[in-house]
Amino acid sequence: MDDNLNQNIFIKPAVYTASVFSKNNVSSKVTKLMLNINSNSFNFIPGQYINLQVNSERYRPYSISSGKRYLPTLSLLVETGHEGLGSNYVNSLKPNDTVTFIGPAGKLLLKSYLKPNIQFFATGTGIAPFISILDNLCEKHITNNIFLHFGIRKEEDIMLLPELEDIKFNLPNFRYKIYFSKPKNPELQPQRVTSALPGLAVEDTDFYLCGHPAMVKEVGETLLSYGVLEKDIVTEIFSRPEED
Ligand SMILES: Cc1cc2nc3c(=O)[nH]c(=O)nc-3n(C[C@H](O)[C@H](O)[C@H](O)COP(=O)(O)OP(=O)(O)OC[C@H]3O[C@@H](n4cnc5c(N)ncnc54)[C@H](O)[C@@H]3O)c2cc1C
Repeated sequence: MDDNLNQNIFIKPAVYTASVFSKNNVSSKVTKLMLNINSNSFNFIPGQYINLQVNSERYRPYSISSGKRYLPTLSLLVETGHEGLGSNYVNSLKPNDTVTFIGPAGKLLLKSYLKPNIQFFATGTGIAPFISILDNLCEKHITNNIFLHFGIRKEEDIMLLPELEDIKFNLPNFRYKIYFSKPKNPELQPQRVTSALPGLAVEDTDFYLCGHPAMVKEVGETLLSYGVLEKDIVTEIFSRPEED
């Protein structure tokens, strides 16, 4: 296996500042925030996140959605459709504003030895770290079978189709499916990513789950009940802070 995928390294988190390069809506509720880091020493492993300072004392974790090759620029996909500290902060940012973050952190890291089959399960902005990981796999010309199950609510939540198509073009054995849990179109069957589970082949497969806590729990528990080993299920839960 390609040694460059051996990511069992620890990158010490530190405090960084960055300037806002651009901000644009990628769906009705998600903003893509591009930051230019004011340092060349920041490094991360695809799948990790940063803690963005959203006021004088609070931070919010956001996964890095861009590939390493774009450093010192990085992108985040931030849910901005609700009233929240992080959401309001990102909505208030303008190009050239300075932000502070601590990072990197996170355990959604590809194993150094990839099994022939890789299954990604994401809900909402839980897709962010997978875009970064997939960019890395494109660079390495990986030929393993990779399937991304991507759950959103409605058609207006669709995002990143050009990016996903681009990845499909560059990774010959990458496929993805979008599941709508509450589609507006009555002809579309409501489906969650969990509908992929019955009958799913689990041999020679690693699973990576990211997003809503209930999805990660349900998919993880179902996979364990199918006999998948805990070590073959890597998770990052987008839990919400309790202290606010
Ligand atoms: C490791 C990790 C990585 C994460 N990565 C990302 C990421 O890449 N992108 C991302 O958007 N989030 C990510 N999150 C979640 C993120 O950190 C925030 O918790 C979340 O965006 C809500 O923060 P907030 O400050 O906007 O809202 P808060 O101030 O925490 O909450 C305010 C109110 O809004 C509600 N609320 C919070 N989120 C939503 C929502 N999405 N829809 C509707 N109501 C909501 C809360 O229940 C609360 O009532 C990640 C979380 C973790 C733990």
